[in-house]
Amino acid sequence: MRYLILGCGPAGIAAAKTILKSDKSASVVIATEESGPPYLRPLLPDLITGEMDLSAIRDPQGEDLASRGIEVRHGKRAKKVDAANRRVAFADGSEEAYDSLLIATGGKPAIPPPLRKTPGSVFPFDSLEDAQRIREKAKGKGDAVVYGPGFLGIVASVAMRRVGLSVVWLQPDLPRIGYPISGELEASILDNVRNKGVVIRDGIDISEVVELDGGVIGIRTSAGDQLRCSMIVAATERLPSVEFLRGSGVNVGTGILVDDHLRTSASNIYAAGDCAELRDKAGGESRINFGWRSAVKQGQLAGENMAGGGKVFIGKQEDYFWMLFGSALADRTR
Ligand SMILES: Cc1cc2nc3c(=O)[nH]c(=O)nc-3n(C[C@H](O)[C@H](O)[C@H](O)COP(=O)(O)OP(=O)(O)OC[C@H]3O[C@@H](n4cnc5c(N)ncnc54)[C@H](O)[C@@H]3O)c2cc1C
Repeated sequence: MRYLILGCGPAGIAAAKTILKSDKSASVVIATEESGPPYLRPLLPDLITGEMDLSAIRDPQGEDLASRGIEVRHGKRAKKVDAANRRVAFADGSEEAYDSLLIATGGKPAIPPPLRKTPGSVFPFDSLEDAQRIREKAKGKGDAVVYGPGFLGIVASVAMRRVGLSVVWLQPDLPRIGYPISGELEASILDNVRNKGVVIRDGIDISEVVELDGGVIGIRTSAGDQLRCSMIVAATERLPSVEFLRGSGVNVGTGILVDDHLRTSASNIYAAGDCAELRDKAGGESRINFGWRSAVKQGQLAGENMAGGGKVFIGKQEDYFWMLFGSALADRTR
């Protein structure tokens, strides 16, 4: 069997290793748009602050792929899935065939229209390349505006303060995809963020961005006031990276719709991690389980099922939703 996995994040890596445990003669290929080795995305804030370097954030799970016989193809951005002919086309013009396909392409930050007009002033906060760009720019000091409604807004604001920039965090009233805190815990985390010197402006959106002379960025907010800064960090929610499935026949809602086995509407295509949209049996709601450890668990399960395991996804929200990576958010903001 030829297994093709799109995405070399925690879900893709976990699936590849699990498939090989169950199907010893499997041919497993991971195709990823990224150019370098896998890294620990939750540690990107530490790369920005300089508390960790590139070698410290490499994903140890990604180091033995070649020795296990898993082939990783870099610089391969999936552009189209032809489910009928079992092929994936990539942006570089190449194609890969598969018997069984896993989509583990995670999410990408949603950048709202007013921020798209001045791409040179806006720094998305999602990938290694993004973090390196933010770190370079932040070295010049200045004032940062962090924009985003949830978890990533918190970690981005704290990182920018640690670098020594003054920070205004605009927290728009937008839906949050992964936000595992509420009540007293949330209040105490937000207090930690404020105590670091971050100015939090709750429920405020960006209406317009203009580039002024001398690298200054002017922002008009939804409250009608003006802000000035040297960079805008877009720490917006990760929306599932699924645009290449258009026309494939695979059903997509916000994310890729999967059943209890993490199987999509096509019987030999599975999805796992931040790109998969699961139905919570208890609540009947669909949701995306943002989070590193959740992605690993889903990748393992999808891998087992692709190799014939027939395992059911554990549908309880707390099994996945709360499984954030590393030290608790309260400790990280202190
Ligand atoms: C700054 C930041 C901090 C975070 N901190 C935490 C934390 O503290 N705790 C926690 O649990 N989670 C955290 N997360 C979330 C966590 O990183 C994700 O939940 C997890 O990485 C999801 O894993 P995944 O395998 O589903 O997708 P990803 O890790 O996103 O991997 C998907 C891979 O697929 C690639 N890809 C995308 N589209 C294509 C395509 N068309 N073709 C080929 N390749 C493609 C991407 O480039 C990426 O490398 C954080 C995320 C960010 C951005």
